[in-house]
Formats: sequence, C-alpha cells, structure tokens
Amino acid sequence: MIEFKCVSKKYPSGTLALNKIDLHISKGEFAFIVGPSGSGKSTLLKLILKEEDVTEGEIYVNGFNITTLKPKEVPYLRRSIGVVFQDFRLLPKKTVYENVEFAMRITGALPKEMRRQVPMALGLVGLSKKADAYPDELSGGEQQRVALARALVNRPSLLIADEPTGNLDPETSWEIMKLIDEINHRGTTVIVATHEKGIVDSMKKRVIAIRKGEIIRDQQKGQYQDET
Ligand code: ADP
Ligand code: ADP
Repeated sequence: MIEFKCVSKKYPSGTLALNKIDLHISKGEFAFIVGPSGSGKSTLLKLILKEEDVTEGEIYVNGFNITTLKPKEVPYLRRSIGVVFQDFRLLPKKTVYENVEFAMRITGALPKEMRRQVPMALGLVGLSKKADAYPDELSGGEQQRVALARALVNRPSLLIADEPTGNLDPETSWEIMKLIDEINHRGTTVIVATHEKGIVDSMKKRVIAIRKGEIIRDQQKGQYQDET
C-alpha cells in the first residue's frame, strides 16, 4: 500500500530530513514511527500526503507513483488518507456534527450519504451523544475523537496520526490509541508517529525507528527502544 524507494528529502534550508529511505507498509498494517524530535517523522508523513515533494526517489501509495502526481490529482490522494494531529485542528465555530460533516461536504458528498456516514463515524468513536456540542465544550480526548471521526468519515484506506496523544493525559492517550487500534482491526491501515514509549512497548506493533533521517530499526512487535 505504501512503498518508499530510496527517498530523500532535503529542505531548501539545506537540512537533509530524510536520507535514502526504503520502506514498505502493507494494507491492513499498524506501524509506529518513533524517533527523537527532528529525526524526520513528520517529514515522512508529509511526503505520503504530498504536502512536501521528495528530492530524490519514489513513493507509491495504493499503486500510484505519487512523486509524479499532477496537482489536480492530489485531492484524490488526500481523500484516500485520513489524518489526525496533536492539536486536533477542529473548526471552533462548528458543532461536532458539523465538523465531521464538513470533511465530507468538501469532497462533494451527497446529503443522503452525509446523513448516513456522519452519525456512523460519530458512533464509531463513541461520540453520538455529543453531536451538538462545540469543540470548546469537550475534553481533549473527546476533541481527538471528533478529529478521528472526521478523518474516517470518507472511509479512507489509510489513517495517519502525527503525535495524536501529544496533548492528552496518559489515561486518555491510552483510550485514543485503543480506538486507533480498533479502527485498524476494522481494516484501515494505520501509521502513528509518537513519543509514547509506554504505549508503543505494550501494543507490540511494528516499530519503525528513525534517527537523523534514516531508518535505524524496523521490527514487528517492536519496542520503542531496542534493549540491546
Ligand atoms: P520530527 O517530526 O521527527 O520531529 P521533522 O520531520 O519535523 O522531524 O524534521 C526533520 C528535520 O527537518 C529537522 O531538522 C527539521 O528542523 C527540518 N525541517 C522540518 N520541516 C522543515 C521545513 N519546512 N523547512 C526546513 N527544515 C525543516
Ligand atoms: P492482528 O490481529 O495480527 O493485528 P488483523 O486481524 O488486524 O491482525 O489482520 C490480519 C491480517 O489481515 C494482517 O496481515 C492484515 O494486514 C490483514 N488485514 C486486516 N484487515 C484487512 C483489510 N480490511 N483488508 C486487507 N487486509 C487486512
């Protein structure tokens, strides 16, 4: 589903954020991306979304070479990927329902589809009862659930989460990670960049460790850090 072939990313500033990355993530997988701040995790995710272009190499997403994707085709790529961020990025003047609905509306979805899909996405994250609330009336964990519902409402094949629990307390972080795991078990491929050592160590998922723009470890049922 995702293939990096000798991918490098050098920013105009001269920083080499990723150096000759080879990576394969299959459909249905759950992969953590770990590494110190500045190691290149966000850059890797931005390349998959084509928010940044590679300097060298090729990236395939769902069989398409996205490095040669035309600008007008980029929205189709983004539509197949749900994204959540550390800071939730909800629209403050819209209700929970409207936030999720908006993500469908901009893809040109029909009202009938939205009436079916929005409640389903809210149900999936356990927020059906908060549909009419505004983001500032919700806890951080609830806001991240809304962001997850919004990311999933268009039924993407891939979910990308960049530090999704960075603003949450430990217990809530666990709930969000469990929810992401459940979403994975329902068939969505998941990539999570995170610093949550405790969670990574107990979830026993694939761990891709990045350091200074290089993959230094890629383990099934891995740990945040190699004990050796
Ligand atoms: P991480 O997500 O692991 O913290 P990033 O991918 O954000 O790492 O950053 C990797 C490196 O690239 C860092 O040295 C960072 O300063 C640099 N970098 C990230 N984004 C930009 C940018 N837009 N312009 C220039 N340098 C950047
Ligand atoms: P596990 O319990 O080990 O996490 P899963 O039940 O999530 O395994 O998945 C079993 C296998 O099926 C994995 O190889 C996974 O990649 C694949 N898989 C899971 N869901 C889907 C799906 N909706 N479409 C395609 N492959 C899937």
